[in-house]
Amino acid sequence: MRLYNTLTKKEEELKPIKQGEIGIYACGPTVYHYAHIGNLRTYILEDFLRRSLEYIGFKVKHVMNITDVGHLTSDADEGEDKMELGSKREGKSAWEIADFYTRAFFKDFDSLNCLRPTISCKATDHIADMIELVKKLEKNGYTYRTSDGIYYDTSKFANYGILAGKANLEGIKAGARIEFSKEKRNPTDFALWKFSKEGEKRQMEWDSPWGKGFPGWHIECSAMSMKYLGETFDMHLGGIDHVAIHHTNEIAQAEGATGKKFVNHWVHMEFLVIGSSEKMSKSAGNFLTLNSIVEKGYSPLVYRYFCSQAHYRKQLEFSFEAIAAADRALKNLRNLVLDVFEKAQGKPEEAFDCDKLLKFKKAIEDDLNIPMAVSILWETLRDNSLANSKKMWLAMEFEKVLAFGIFEKEKEDVPAEIIALSNERWEAKKNKDFARADALREKIKSLGWLVEDTAQGPRVKKA
Ligand code: AMP
Ligand code: ZN
Repeated sequence: MRLYNTLTKKEEELKPIKQGEIGIYACGPTVYHYAHIGNLRTYILEDFLRRSLEYIGFKVKHVMNITDVGHLTSDADEGEDKMELGSKREGKSAWEIADFYTRAFFKDFDSLNCLRPTISCKATDHIADMIELVKKLEKNGYTYRTSDGIYYDTSKFANYGILAGKANLEGIKAGARIEFSKEKRNPTDFALWKFSKEGEKRQMEWDSPWGKGFPGWHIECSAMSMKYLGETFDMHLGGIDHVAIHHTNEIAQAEGATGKKFVNHWVHMEFLVIGSSEKMSKSAGNFLTLNSIVEKGYSPLVYRYFCSQAHYRKQLEFSFEAIAAADRALKNLRNLVLDVFEKAQGKPEEAFDCDKLLKFKKAIEDDLNIPMAVSILWETLRDNSLANSKKMWLAMEFEKVLAFGIFEKEKEDVPAEIIALSNERWEAKKNKDFARADALREKIKSLGWLVEDTAQGPRVKKA
C-alpha cells in the first residue's frame, strides 16, 4: 500500500516493522464536549484506512487516546483546562464530564460503523508513564523550570519542526510569539508539566517530582503511544491541524527521550469545512454534532457515505444539500443491492479473479482512494455482464472496507392503502384471478408504487 507521508512529503510504500502487522496510534477526542462532525470526519477516514489495511491482510493494532485532562484552551500553554471549563459549564465534576462525553463519543463512533480501537487509553490512567517520560527528558537535558511548570527547550532538539517542514517553522514561531510568555526561552517551547496555581484547588491534579500539578497536553500521546506500540512504531494518524504543534511536539518528546526515530509514517486527514473553507471548530462556535444530522431524519451512515466522497487529503465542504444527496445515493445503493441479492437468491459466488476486485484493491492501495473504491462498487452493481451471485459477493467484500450498511433494507414508509392493495392483489393472484391482479398492479402504479414478486413474496417500492 502506498500512502502519503507528511514526514517525507511524498507518497511511500508502507513498510511495516514487523512483517504483516501495523501498529497505529490515532489522536483521540478531548472529552469536554460532544465531538463535532469535523472530528468525526477524521475518525471515519481513519476507519477507512484501518479497514483497508485489514482487508489487504495486515494485522492492525490500533491505539487511541482519550484526552481527559491537560488540554488547555490555548495552544500556548495558557488558559483554562478544557475539562475544568466543561465542569463549570455544566455544574458537574470534571470526572463526570469526561465520563459522559467519552460515552457520547463512542456512541457516535459505533453508529458510524467505526471499528473500536484495539486499545483506548485515558490520559488520567497514565500520569505515572508521563512523569517517567518527563524525567527522561530532564535527564537528557531538554527541560527547564519556570514559575508555572516544566518546559521543553525546543532549541535543544536539532530536528524540531521536521514534520511541518523548515519553511513552515518560521510561521509556527511567529504564531507562537503572539502568546509568548516571557519566561519561555523560545516561542515554540511547550509545557510538559504544569503546576497547580497557588491557593487554587484543581479537580484533577497529581503529585510529581516537580510539584503538584497536571501534564501538558502533548506528553500523553508520546507516553501512551510508546507504551503500547514501542519506542518506534509504524503509523501515526490525526487531523491536519496537529502537524504544526501537537505532532511536532510529540516527536520532540519521544525522540528527545529515546534517541530513536518515533514514527515511520505520518498520515493526516484534511478538514471538514463549512462555507468558504472556514474550519469547523468548537471555539469558533460553528460546529454541528452528528445528532444535528440525525435530528433531520438522516441515519449516521449517510454521514459516513458523505465522507467517502472526498479524498482524505482534500477538504470536504459540508452542507445539508450534500447530506440530502448522500442520503438519496445511499438509498439507491441499498435498493440496488437488494435487487442483486434477490436475483442471486441470497447466494453469493466468489469472484477472486474479477477485474472489479482488482480495481477496488488498487484504489485503496493507491493512497487510500476511497472515492474511487465507491465508484467501483456502483460500477459493479450496475454491470449487466456480471452474474448477480458474483456481484453480491463483490459487494460483500467491498462492504468490509466501506461499511455503509448496504445490506440494510431501506425502510420505505409504504402507506397503509398501498399495503392493502398489494395484499388484495396477492390474494387475487393466489386465486388465479390474474385479470384482477393486473388491474390492482396498475392501480398501485398509478399511485406511485411498484409491486414485484420475489421468492419471499410481493415487495412494494417507490416507482
Ligand atoms: P479534538 O477532540 O479537538 O482533540 O480533535 C479530535 C480530532 O479531530 C483530531 O484528530 C483533530 O485534528 C480533528 N479535527 C478537528 N477539527 C477538525 C475538522 N474541522 N475537520 C476534520 N478533523 C478535525
Ligand atoms: Zn495526540
